[in-house]
Amino acid sequence: MVSAVAINGLRVGFGDHAYYFNLANQAIQLGWPKFLLIYGFPFVILAWFIHFQEDRFRRGLAKARPNGLVLLLIFDEWDYNWTFPHRPSNIRMPEVDRFTSENINFNRTYPPTNETIRSIPSLLTGRVVEDVRTAPGPDLLLRFRGESNWIPWSQVPDLPYQLSNQGLRTCFITHVHAFGPAYMQARPNLEIRRKPYYKEWEEGQARYQTFTGSFVRQWMCVLENLPGISFLRNHGSRVDSVPTVYLHALNETLNAIHSRNFDAIIVHWPIPPAPVMVDPSTGEFTSHPPKGLRLTENLVLVDKTLGRIRHEMESQGLWDTATIVLTSDHWQRFASDPKQVKAPDEAGVEASQQRVPLLIKWPQSPDHQVIRAPMNVVGVARFLASPEASRNLEQLQPLDGHLGSYSPWIK
Ligand SMILES: [Zn+2]
Repeated sequence: MVSAVAINGLRVGFGDHAYYFNLANQAIQLGWPKFLLIYGFPFVILAWFIHFQEDRFRRGLAKARPNGLVLLLIFDEWDYNWTFPHRPSNIRMPEVDRFTSENINFNRTYPPTNETIRSIPSLLTGRVVEDVRTAPGPDLLLRFRGESNWIPWSQVPDLPYQLSNQGLRTCFITHVHAFGPAYMQARPNLEIRRKPYYKEWEEGQARYQTFTGSFVRQWMCVLENLPGISFLRNHGSRVDSVPTVYLHALNETLNAIHSRNFDAIIVHWPIPPAPVMVDPSTGEFTSHPPKGLRLTENLVLVDKTLGRIRHEMESQGLWDTATIVLTSDHWQRFASDPKQVKAPDEAGVEASQQRVPLLIKWPQSPDHQVIRAPMNVVGVARFLASPEASRNLEQLQPLDGHLGSYSPWIK
């Protein structure tokens, strides 16, 4: 009755017609039932309005984040050996080392395949993809290991599909594959923030599958690695675009965390591959790196990226309850090149050069732990698709053997 009390005694009208508003007079003239009906009506409307607003608000909160935020960070070509046992002495990775010392570190993890275009769908579907083919739509046709039929990726119940099905709002930040309307329609709670940079993945896919196309590609790669001949290649466009894609991914990731609009964030980072974007001597972001830097120097950028994300999540109070998986789609491309080798095969251990990092933090996890059992990254999809309370390390065990489907060429 606050507003009614406030207008009581108010001078209403002008000159001779002016009178003082008197609630008691109104009640007597109208009779109590009419009085209550007329003067109570706005409050009833207000009460209804507040009731439904609160109801919507409550439902919104309940749906927003029943558990902690899920983060899957896939760093392209992030090599286990160069990051951990054989890290170059000039490379410091304090954030990765802190994360490793606080959480679960798998030190014998293998990627599903040796190339991005097969590994990313493998990682998200939880099954090793033997072969891929682009299809109009756009869509990608997948042929899983041990199967002969082709299935459109849009129709496979992958991690974004399962999260979306659980009503979890997912943000997928990527730059390699194209996702068409069919993919999005089957995943109503998914948003894709894609920077379409790697045009060669779509435009060149058909070209590289022909004999001439693959011949040209092989020769381009040979030329790129010949000393003194690098001026032949279109260096400018290559150097500029990876930083663009990286900065896009970083901004989108920080925005997605900050917005609190998502329950899960999946990021496919275009680092650590070249060009080098952080000068390890200064630790500063650079578009003109000193000569002689190689892929390993961008490990610093991986570390800085993790640091930025951690800082953002901690300042939002989202870190402790979060489930975070750090891994890669395949090992470092020079790891098996005898001239470039920095990661020798360990005696008695199969394929040690083909390992990728797998680091997991989740609220139910025990403290720091090193797991030496062979793993394949494809298990991550099953682990993250499970509701938080039922996640466990057994879900990471590969269903069909730990080694994936490799060929010598890293892409
Ligand atoms: Zn890759």
